[in-house]
Amino acid sequence: MIRILFATSELYPLVKTGGLADVSASLPEALCRLEYDVHILLPGYPAAMEAARKGSALRKARIQVDDYSVSLWQTRPPGSAVTLWLVDCPALFDRPGNPYQNGRGEDWWDNAQRYELFCRVAAQIALGQAGIQWVPDIVHCNDWQTGLIPVFLEHHRSRPGTVFTVHNLAYQGLFPHEIFRALGLPDSLWNMHELEFHGQLSFIKGGLVFSDRITTVSPRYAREIQTPDYGYGLDGLLRHRRERLSGILNGIDTGVWNPEDDPYLEFHYGSGHLENKLLCKARLQDQLALKTGDAPLLGFIGRMVEQKGLDWLVAVMRPLLERGCQFALLGSGESRYEEPLKALANQWPDQVSLTLGYDEVLSHRITAGCDLFMMPSRFEPCGLNQMYSLRYGTLPIVHSIGGLRDTIFDPVDAGLDEANGFCFQEPTATSFLSAIERALGYRKNQKAWRRLQHNAMSGEYSWQLRAKSYGDLYQQILAERD
Ligand code: ADP
Repeated sequence: MIRILFATSELYPLVKTGGLADVSASLPEALCRLEYDVHILLPGYPAAMEAARKGSALRKARIQVDDYSVSLWQTRPPGSAVTLWLVDCPALFDRPGNPYQNGRGEDWWDNAQRYELFCRVAAQIALGQAGIQWVPDIVHCNDWQTGLIPVFLEHHRSRPGTVFTVHNLAYQGLFPHEIFRALGLPDSLWNMHELEFHGQLSFIKGGLVFSDRITTVSPRYAREIQTPDYGYGLDGLLRHRRERLSGILNGIDTGVWNPEDDPYLEFHYGSGHLENKLLCKARLQDQLALKTGDAPLLGFIGRMVEQKGLDWLVAVMRPLLERGCQFALLGSGESRYEEPLKALANQWPDQVSLTLGYDEVLSHRITAGCDLFMMPSRFEPCGLNQMYSLRYGTLPIVHSIGGLRDTIFDPVDAGLDEANGFCFQEPTATSFLSAIERALGYRKNQKAWRRLQHNAMSGEYSWQLRAKSYGDLYQQILAERD
């Protein structure tokens, strides 16, 4: 059995700020079903430690890392068969709320120290130096928080293979040079080909330069990040390593996201019996105090930040409201987007519902109850919400980039037999608006609409195939290292 250490800074349902948490919960599980021995490594945040205590976790080792005494607890994620290791270091990880920021939305001042320690612990486990009776064949690292793991393993003769997955290249873990010195990293790493990025320490470069393989979460994004437009100055490095770089589309947990038996819904439905979807819509309109009826209901769920195209969303709402459209919006983020949305919700109370915050239950109800789901992202490594919407027959309208381009097919390009949503190409609000208008046109044609819903709901979005692609990658690395 091939042993995989899956190092991650988020894990649903224990700690989540975005799609990484969902992937960390689903991919290891799917790999286990393919007979890989996967162990997840997660910082011992309070929610994780509490769940571990309830789940009778065992302390398997105590190690000294830098100035810190660290305990390694072995447990299982809630409802899972996968082994979970928690890196218990209260001075660094016993902090409430968001894993990366304090209550005022500022990054924790010692994030570099926190995740450097996490990486050192991972490296000790990988090298069999952590005092636990398990050593991986492959370490699978995820995003900048794990970027130093391949660096710490680089010079060891018998080290495991390494995979570094980029879930979002926009987050790179950049810190001043003094931090590089304070962490005691070797001076030899301070150059533009290794950890330095324009005078700063870059955690993500550790993963991009030193891992055996780089993956990202969709084939299209793998190509995009090799271009200056989406590469954040790392495109040259990524082009240089293109033989080692591939894109594997994320899957979704089709057990959690299933309109046939979703526990958060009062009414259930499937591709062959969609009548209850209308009841979900009526229930949602009622819950959100929107006018009940047949008006087109458009949903959005996500972080309200520039990446997600919130300015285009704000720009298209007014003309659509004037035509009677309704909006169910859920998320939180920057006030420059929240404020105009609040103003629209106040002005059009029975057509706009805005819920600021994080709400798992409502996210399922919006996904089920809306007619259309909007993802006008400026860039999108993969995106999960469009796949949740497809499963629920809620047709996505997306900017045709990254993973959105790999998953959503417009009738204009794909024909009615293959299409499952609507795409716009130009990065403008006007282009977004005309895609929505086109979608509203299709909605008037019951037969075409049903066909699109059927295509959407019958697509294959599970982790099964995707996990196999990761498995193939692990095997290739091991074969090369033999
Ligand atoms: P990203 O990782 O860029 O935030 P993804 O689409 O990959 O975007 O994943 C976001 C995940 O977080 C999805 O599972 C989405 O449903 C969920 N999510 C985001 N915001 C909220 C919210 N306010 N309430 C509930 N779920 C949310």
